[in-house]
Amino acid sequence: MTFWNEGEPVSDAAAPDGPIETRWERHKFSAKLVNPANRRKLTVIVVGTGLAGGSAAATLAEAGYRVRSYCYQDSPRRAHSIAAQGGINAAKNYRNDGDSIYRLFYDTVKGGDFRARESNVYRLAQVSVNIIDQCVAQGVPFAREYGGLLDNRSFGGTQVSRTFYARGQTGQQLLLGAYQAMERQIALGTIEMNARHEMLELIIVDGRARGVVVRDLVTGEITTDFADAVVLASGGYGNVFFLSTNAKGCNVTASWRAHRKGALFANPCYTQIHPTCIPESGTHQSKLTLMSESLRNDGRVWVPLARGDSRKPGDIPEAERDYYLERIYPSFGNLVPRDIASRAAKNVCDEGRGVGPGGLGVYLDFADAIERLGRHTVEEKYGNLFEMYQRITGEDPYEVPMRIYPAVHYTMGGLWVDYDLQSTIPGLFVIGEANFSDHGANRLGASALMQGLADGYFVLPNTINNYLAAGPFEKLSADHAEVVAARTSVEDRLAKLLAVDGDRTVDSFHRELGHIMWEYCGMERTEEGLTKAIGLIRGLRDDFWTRVKVPGTGEQLNQNLEKAGRVADFFELAELMCIDALHRGESAGGHFRAESQTPDGEALRHDDEFSYVAAWEYGDVPTLHKEQLDFEYVHPSTRSYK
Ligand SMILES: Cc1cc2nc3c(=O)[nH]c(=O)nc-3n(C[C@H](O)[C@H](O)[C@H](O)COP(=O)(O)OP(=O)(O)OC[C@H]3O[C@@H](n4cnc5c(N)ncnc54)[C@H](O)[C@@H]3O)c2cc1C
Repeated sequence: MTFWNEGEPVSDAAAPDGPIETRWERHKFSAKLVNPANRRKLTVIVVGTGLAGGSAAATLAEAGYRVRSYCYQDSPRRAHSIAAQGGINAAKNYRNDGDSIYRLFYDTVKGGDFRARESNVYRLAQVSVNIIDQCVAQGVPFAREYGGLLDNRSFGGTQVSRTFYARGQTGQQLLLGAYQAMERQIALGTIEMNARHEMLELIIVDGRARGVVVRDLVTGEITTDFADAVVLASGGYGNVFFLSTNAKGCNVTASWRAHRKGALFANPCYTQIHPTCIPESGTHQSKLTLMSESLRNDGRVWVPLARGDSRKPGDIPEAERDYYLERIYPSFGNLVPRDIASRAAKNVCDEGRGVGPGGLGVYLDFADAIERLGRHTVEEKYGNLFEMYQRITGEDPYEVPMRIYPAVHYTMGGLWVDYDLQSTIPGLFVIGEANFSDHGANRLGASALMQGLADGYFVLPNTINNYLAAGPFEKLSADHAEVVAARTSVEDRLAKLLAVDGDRTVDSFHRELGHIMWEYCGMERTEEGLTKAIGLIRGLRDDFWTRVKVPGTGEQLNQNLEKAGRVADFFELAELMCIDALHRGESAGGHFRAESQTPDGEALRHDDEFSYVAAWEYGDVPTLHKEQLDFEYVHPSTRSYK
């Protein structure tokens, strides 16, 4: 059976060349500008108000564009970004520990297992330093040292301390900064904020993205909105696995609708499984909780040396413990990158040395840190995380080690964008977790906040001018044929979901889909398993469209209807993820193909065959377009953290 076709290669026409240090400066200089008086004649729709969308909306409005923002929560402040705990990277080198823009660039390209673009990553590292200044100026309360300088800690995959943080609530504090900047523009009338509205379709006219179809989630009213450009900042799709650390509402609908209309979807199989989450406690559960990677600065990961050792952790003497990350990876120890730490946890559990119910857990132990630093210091650094752990598990991590296990956390794949963050649909820009751009096959900790804010505050506001300089575009009205077609397709789909009137809940389908994905497209993937998963997903999807029960109507607040639409899109995405994972017959970062591993069980890349971005075109049989990756500065090598 043919699961995919191969099409023409895709290339990044906006990619700059020349010395990497000057690419972004030269690119910005060569871009067209829009005169301030003309900016108010141009409108931009921004879907999403997380760190990426919030920062972009505020900056574009500050520059003088008219912005209309959408989010499905009741306030922009509730975007999933608020959950981010551990910190944000920046190459400030405040610690004088050898950090630099070049080192952040190097760490990120290597951390992504040589599957990201060098130019994008270098720009990210350059812009990282501006982000911190911007946020400090907004009043974001980053942690400080005694002398007043901003404090730093380390995250996985680095040997320097470059992570800025606000206790375990960094995302919340950064989002409040972006939100305030947005609110200022809302008050000035330059941003029109539409909370509790869900984008359900993209409107394309004459080949350009020109608007969106949205549903008012309170009244059910369907409306259309037009602009000169559309920005998607709609976040990641980890919830395709049902259980993940993402907010329950996170979904792929905005990106998937754009994909169905022609935007290529890149590297969908690159999923990040985070090593330190609270283990699943039973089948009733609908959400998993992250314990921030920052905890690995001081917590030590271990399991008993012997299989099936069921003694309490305190009864197991030092000599009978295996601090396996410190043993296998002495240079990076507990701070190896997430893909490596997650696989190592899986391996020790597979060996029968896991702890807790079902043997699916490892210890994260703070006893040494408490002895070395004192309880008070540990409390100051991680207090809210410890409290969260205790509330969920009923165990006190100051007294007994935390139990942790890997869980789905982040998606490196997303809509394909060029260096300007423009998708393959002219006028459709994609920023933050929704695009695929900078992390390759594995994202390093504290780099998502950096990328989202780099995109929103600094990159997009520069690159979008080049596109908008050709505007304003033709004025549209609701009776334009393309607009009517987009709107009708939304109405028909909602009516179809309501009409099934079957006997199974949306959640039961979502949970089953998640099981399939975790089993066959999770931490370890095989050709046989992926092929089986595609068959299972197709069968379950057919079942969904004949048996799903969506109570209520479309003309009211109806969360089952919202979920049904999102799960329907997850089914299609899940199939593409498995096809992408199947076609990539190598292991790279978070994508571990059991058939492709080194003798000691590490991921084995095949650079000669797979050194490309896989950009997929929508179709009954999807078409693969390859974007070749070239490495001039950080030459691909075996990624070792030993
Ligand atoms: C528990 C947790 C902790 C994390 N900690 C860190 C950390 O310490 N450091 C780090 O770098 N990263 C961290 N991350 C990752 C990081 O938080 C996310 O990658 C990042 O916040 C994503 O930001 P975003 O703006 O792209 O999307 P989001 O914050 O997910 O925002 C998406 C927005 O899009 C809107 N939206 C989506 N679809 C639609 C639609 N169809 N119509 C209308 N609106 C829509 C939503 O309403 C929302 O406003 C963490 C992630 C998790 C889950």
